[in-house]
Amino acid sequence: MKDKKKIVLVTGASRGIGAAIAKRLAPEYEIWLNYRSDHGSAVRVQKEIEANSGVCRLLPFDVADEEAVKASLEPLLGENTVWGLVHNAGVTRDTLVATMTREQWDTVLGVHLTAYFLLTRILARNMLFARQGRIVAISSISGETGQSGQMNYSAAKAGLIGASKALAREVARRNVLVNVVSPGLIETEMTDKLPKDKLLPTIPLGRFGNSTEVAGIVNFLMGEEAGYITGQVISVNGGLYM
Ligand code: NAP
Repeated sequence: MKDKKKIVLVTGASRGIGAAIAKRLAPEYEIWLNYRSDHGSAVRVQKEIEANSGVCRLLPFDVADEEAVKASLEPLLGENTVWGLVHNAGVTRDTLVATMTREQWDTVLGVHLTAYFLLTRILARNMLFARQGRIVAISSISGETGQSGQMNYSAAKAGLIGASKALAREVARRNVLVNVVSPGLIETEMTDKLPKDKLLPTIPLGRFGNSTEVAGIVNFLMGEEAGYITGQVISVNGGLYM
């Protein structure tokens, strides 16, 4: 019988950065792969992981829906200890503040920030009991610098940094480590309509990043060698913000 791998829940992992994180972690960890609606893509990621002898459990639910979060995770936590959470799920509803609807504000704050509260409230209990664990929130350069047309997204991503630092202090004594990875411009569906010709000259490394370059740092933060790192924001942005 194979040794049971440590479990990591990756939210929003049906595509983009989340899928890259799930695939990067899969050789070492059992992946609980969350997504909301893109079932076909999630199954493709699962099949790829399984084809490489990995273990991947699909967990479709809306991370901003309190009842769905509880209904999906609580039954599993009775019999499993979760080693890691990567809160990566994300959406944008970009518009200038004068035209931003309440729905656009609430949706973005819900998926990024309220979801982080809902997920960590459940999983931190499990990790504190086990006296071990790793939590990584995927923030954004927009949360560090602010971005015009993204008051909702910048607020949510900045909120993740504050929430993570508070949580890092709260759970450190039980050996639960909490960090933030803050990507710049990464090639995914979220960025495929941005005006590249205007943006590239502003990036010191002169290119968008790849999802695998974000996944690599998350993999490091999940591992033994990151055992003395907590409460940190690690930027993966090609020098766009220093
Ligand atoms: P993406 O390609 O649009 O993928 C977003 C993922 O989040 C999908 O798997 C989607 O699943 C999932 N998702 C969205 N709403 C959800 C919800 N309510 N519940 C559960 N899952 C949900 O985005 P990405 O570019 O990979 O971005 C991933 C993360 O990195 C986000 O937090 C984003 O803000 C952050 N980020 C991205 C960049 C960039 O340049 N791409 C830069 C900085 C930060 P379904 O499609 O199934 O709903």
